[in-house]
Amino acid sequence: MTTPSWGDVDNYLVETLVGDDPTLTDALAANAAGGLPAIDVSPAQGKFLHLLAKSIGARRILEIGTLGGYSTIWLARAVGPDGKVVTLEYSPQHAAVARVNLGRAGVGDRVEVRVGAALETLPVVAADISTDGTGPFDLVFIDADKVNNSNYVNWALRLTRPGSVIVVDNVVRDGGVADPESADPNAAASREVLELLSAEPRLDATVVQTVGSKGWDGFAYALVIG
Ligand code: SAM
Repeated sequence: MTTPSWGDVDNYLVETLVGDDPTLTDALAANAAGGLPAIDVSPAQGKFLHLLAKSIGARRILEIGTLGGYSTIWLARAVGPDGKVVTLEYSPQHAAVARVNLGRAGVGDRVEVRVGAALETLPVVAADISTDGTGPFDLVFIDADKVNNSNYVNWALRLTRPGSVIVVDNVVRDGGVADPESADPNAAASREVLELLSAEPRLDATVVQTVGSKGWDGFAYALVIG
């Protein structure tokens, strides 16, 4: 047998631990039909986020970067029928596809898709949660324009509480994060956000590198401690 590739292993892991999920398969098909790029989290990563949310008993989740709602479905399933996911998306077209996918997945009523640049919608989210009494988010998943990751972590700090978790996707960037000379602005943004996670006394953080169907990347995981 030839040495299995990362993709082979991912396929095996998904077959073994995630299984067939027609709702999620349909969502990805709808994304492709709508011309959305296939830059969603992988199935194994989606399930990881789902289990993470369940592990911490998350009832309120903020997602920055919806695309077609693939990760949103995983997160919305975790919060249960009384929970809520607020997801922020720049592209009206992506948001429209996401709304259909979320409705078809049976979680549309627990997800609010807000359209616009996240740096403009985040202040509105902050104002809403301070007036409607819903309180801070238990989990923030950051997966939008990478150059703003540090801004998003700073916002996440304002919108969470001690014990909340902040996850930032795609911080390894094919290893570019370890190259201080990298010309890739996204790699530079990864270094910036990891330095922020390290320096910020209200956070304790690490990174888990990921390989598989989506290449070589990684999740930053930060616990709000103060
Ligand atoms: N989380 C999604 C998933 O796994 O299914 C994938 C999100 S995709 C990597 C990034 C999304 O962020 C895209 O849909 C893009 O339009 C959106 N985006 C980019 N810049 C943004 C911004 N400034 N504010 C909000 N969303 C943005």
